[in-house]
Amino acid sequence: MSQRIVIVGAGHAAGEFCAALMQDGFDGSITLFGDEPHLPYQRPPLSKAYLTGEMDRDRLFLRGADFYETHAIALKPNVSVTAINRGTKTVTTSDGSEEPYDTLVLMTGARVRHLSCPGADLGGVRYVRSIADADALGAALEPGQTMVVIGGGYIGLEVAASARKLGLAVSVVEMAPRLLARVASAEFSSDVHDLHTANGVSILCETGVAEITGNGDGQVTGVRLADKTVLDAHHVVVGIGVMANEEIATQAGLKTNNGILVDAAGRTSDPSIFAAGDVARFDHKLYGSIRLESVQNAVEQAKICADTIRGTTASYDPVPWFWSDQYDAKIQLAGLSAGYDRAVRRAGKRPGSGSIWLYREGALIAVEALSDAPAYMMGKRWLEEGQSPDPERIADTDIKIKDVV
Ligand SMILES: Cc1cc2nc3c(=O)[nH]c(=O)nc-3n(C[C@H](O)[C@H](O)[C@H](O)COP(=O)(O)OP(=O)(O)OC[C@H]3O[C@@H](n4cnc5c(N)ncnc54)[C@H](O)[C@@H]3O)c2cc1C
Repeated sequence: MSQRIVIVGAGHAAGEFCAALMQDGFDGSITLFGDEPHLPYQRPPLSKAYLTGEMDRDRLFLRGADFYETHAIALKPNVSVTAINRGTKTVTTSDGSEEPYDTLVLMTGARVRHLSCPGADLGGVRYVRSIADADALGAALEPGQTMVVIGGGYIGLEVAASARKLGLAVSVVEMAPRLLARVASAEFSSDVHDLHTANGVSILCETGVAEITGNGDGQVTGVRLADKTVLDAHHVVVGIGVMANEEIATQAGLKTNNGILVDAAGRTSDPSIFAAGDVARFDHKLYGSIRLESVQNAVEQAKICADTIRGTTASYDPVPWFWSDQYDAKIQLAGLSAGYDRAVRRAGKRPGSGSIWLYREGALIAVEALSDAPAYMMGKRWLEEGQSPDPERIADTDIKIKDVV
């Protein structure tokens, strides 16, 4: 009998998984459950070009409906999987049906963490995770209005940059002592801070939010900070991180720990169940136990799952990479910065460009580039090769980057 694959979650990983599985032909059946109304789509433009109106909705979708029709992939939009029944090898869905599987693939992604202070549920307090979120925010923004972004991570900063482009006055409030505290070095945070202040954003670090203030119509009017200052705001956008959608896996007895645990082949603790993307946690030889929230991870881990399911020996051992577009700057990161003990700065060719090279016990662990693609590309390649360039030579811009090693 041909293999029945059921996928839970119709996001970036699911879209790439279907494409990878179909590439060399697959004669089983695939059913794809997604709780959103859409075909699998890419989220990065939601806080960037799609939000500013520079990108059409059609370009968000990874593939057109014809791809799924051609490959007889049964799409089930607006349907959530509510339970995994490992004994019977079925899933229960929100429309009351039971779907049998031979192989189950969990690509449920992550959901936004919500603000819990008073006023957090006022109209005009928004999050950006889905097309619906970006549509609602984009439609509400008008030049001359004010926006407070709560959370100085990548998504908050991208929304801040987009709102500035649209002519809003923007403040970013961050509880940590610096921007990007969880995901970038202090040196790189400082460069990104400068980028935003140069573009007119007011940044308040080490600042807590006491309350979102509102009017009689239940609409937001501002943000009261812990020190009692009030920032006026037509819009409040919250970007304080995400949580893995792992509950159905935990309830089914799969091993989870802030993410569904998978091995290098994409398998969970049940050999007939796989997981990939934002929801999956795995062991990395350089960075330990990690859960990555990036397109690269969704794409590559999905391909590993497809390879394993097709019977190819596959092993996931990535150099993590990530990008972000803010104003005219391109941010590119390879490796992970956590635990670095030395940061080396290398100036770029153009004003405002450059890279930060991060070492731990003498070994390169990450490179963070601001509008400096050559540095990023060389750093990524050296990380892949396990090479550590001499920090003194990195800092010396008389030596061309390609000649450093
Ligand atoms: C605004 C924004 C900007 C970003 N920018 C970048 C960027 O510049 N660079 C980068 O590398 N990454 C970026 N990312 C991150 C990237 O988009 C994610 O890492 C990627 O989407 C993860 O793919 P995924 O398939 O794991 O999860 P998702 O794309 O989130 O898809 C998971 C899907 O599963 C659905 N689902 C969950 N539970 C169930 C269930 N029980 N039943 C049915 N369906 C379910 C969810 O609703 C969702 O539709 C950005 C993310 C956002 C939100």
